[in-house]
Amino acid sequence: NEADIVESEGEKAPPLAGENAMNVILAAVECAPWSKAGGLGDVAGSLPKALARRGHRVMVVAPRYSNYAEAQEIGLRKQYKVDGQDMEVTYYHAFIDGVDFVFLDSPNFRNLQNNVYGGNRMDILKRMVLFCKAAAEVPWHVPCGGICYGDGNLAFIANDWHTALLPVYLKAYYRDNGLMKFTRSVLVIHNIAHQGRGPLDEFRYTDLPEHYIDLFKFYDPVGGEHLNIFAAGIKAADRIVTVSHGYAWEIKTSEGGWGLHGIMNENDWKLRGIVNGIDTKDWNPKFDVHLKSDGYTNYTIETLQHGKRQCKAALQRELGLPVREDVPLLGFIGRLDHQKGIDLIAEAIPWLMGQDVQLAMLGTGRPDLEDMVKQLVSQHSDKIRGCVGFSVKMAHRITAGADILLMPSRFEPCGLNQLYAMNYGTIPVVHAVGGLRDTVTPFNPFEESGLGWTFDCAETNKLINALGNCLMTFKQFKHSWEGLQRRGMMQDLSWDKAAQQYEEVLVAAKYQW
Ligand code: ADP
Repeated sequence: NEADIVESEGEKAPPLAGENAMNVILAAVECAPWSKAGGLGDVAGSLPKALARRGHRVMVVAPRYSNYAEAQEIGLRKQYKVDGQDMEVTYYHAFIDGVDFVFLDSPNFRNLQNNVYGGNRMDILKRMVLFCKAAAEVPWHVPCGGICYGDGNLAFIANDWHTALLPVYLKAYYRDNGLMKFTRSVLVIHNIAHQGRGPLDEFRYTDLPEHYIDLFKFYDPVGGEHLNIFAAGIKAADRIVTVSHGYAWEIKTSEGGWGLHGIMNENDWKLRGIVNGIDTKDWNPKFDVHLKSDGYTNYTIETLQHGKRQCKAALQRELGLPVREDVPLLGFIGRLDHQKGIDLIAEAIPWLMGQDVQLAMLGTGRPDLEDMVKQLVSQHSDKIRGCVGFSVKMAHRITAGADILLMPSRFEPCGLNQLYAMNYGTIPVVHAVGGLRDTVTPFNPFEESGLGWTFDCAETNKLINALGNCLMTFKQFKHSWEGLQRRGMMQDLSWDKAAQQYEEVLVAAKYQW
């Protein structure tokens, strides 16, 4: 079955001719299934496979946070200077689904499996410096299948501020010295809110020539003059990608740029929005491994009504909610953070609890918001269930068993849960922002078109209004509901289209040099 998926996806997007094949190295501090805090982990785990299917030689470089059964030590050790100290990195390798996964092992990375961004700012900065220094050298030292990548037709893809030093190192250590002249770097912005800001004197930890400080120096009214690692990466990279068209526009505005909108406007010429795909092997109701037990079942568009009914009953049972087919079951999955609008859901609870509904929430994050979820559950134990924690299994089961997925995010660069939901016949109700606006076209009852409900302002009454219409359609217009489900499931949400667009960016970057 897995081979079927790979083959059919290959047919949709013909691979590049062999002579145009690139060497691509994606560096990220999260990579599913080994490490994942959010969407970045999913992207790092699946975009490379889609690029490999198109005929490129592709490597992922990620930290090794714990023992990964699949990866073997390759017998290579390297020392890197960070803050004047020699730090040793050892290398592990696995070849999976056509992709070389290279994991960097160091005491700095160990035991952060469930806390990738944990530690104080200095620890994090030193970790990122070590990781980016080592990642920049990977094509020269790490043999994959016996041969190093070298710099032939080579492109790096860095992700978010954590790896934004990579394009800078590439320039400072290599290009400025006439080396790796044709190697290009693309920096992907998954979330511009986190930028690696710090005091200017932290520049010394980056181990760069003194004049490079200008790249990092940044002023804004909130932070004053400070060191901004994301800003340096954005300036140094040959191309910038962000994860939706909506977000590509938003980060150029003063509301959405988190202080970096000026730089984004200056660099607009090299910015492109590409909507993420989803891993159609992991997030597919037909194959989903988390639906194979405890009364759940796999299903397809042909068996949707029966299959989803069974998954919904299994979820209600597992959560200890009354097992009822007619009650709309709402889901929320995500980091408990101001970004995700969980407080809007909390404010809508008095209205929502007046409806005949059930609500399943899964999330982890800010302690006060975790407490809030626990409190909601204890106050409304007949209708609300909450899992405070990180559970991939539960995320899959809620996606399959719920009728409706709530995503009232204040901002959402791309958002993956709404894409997963639609692939499972679960209807999204979303704040029309960033990637949510790109991917969830609003339901039009006159034309029987659209994919879900959207609201245009992150306010509780707007959420209530959209959700009210959604609940009415669920209860009274079964035909429309099934149409929404079918349209969602029939979309091609795979990585193929996005991989083709990334390829265009990587090729365009090449011609710049
Ligand atoms: P972000 O990257 O901002 O966190 P995305 O929607 O892009 O948001 O991706 C979130 C990913 O993390 C999805 O795959 C989602 O299922 C997963 N996720 C978020 N919170 C949890 C949780 N508590 N348990 C399991 N998976 C989670």
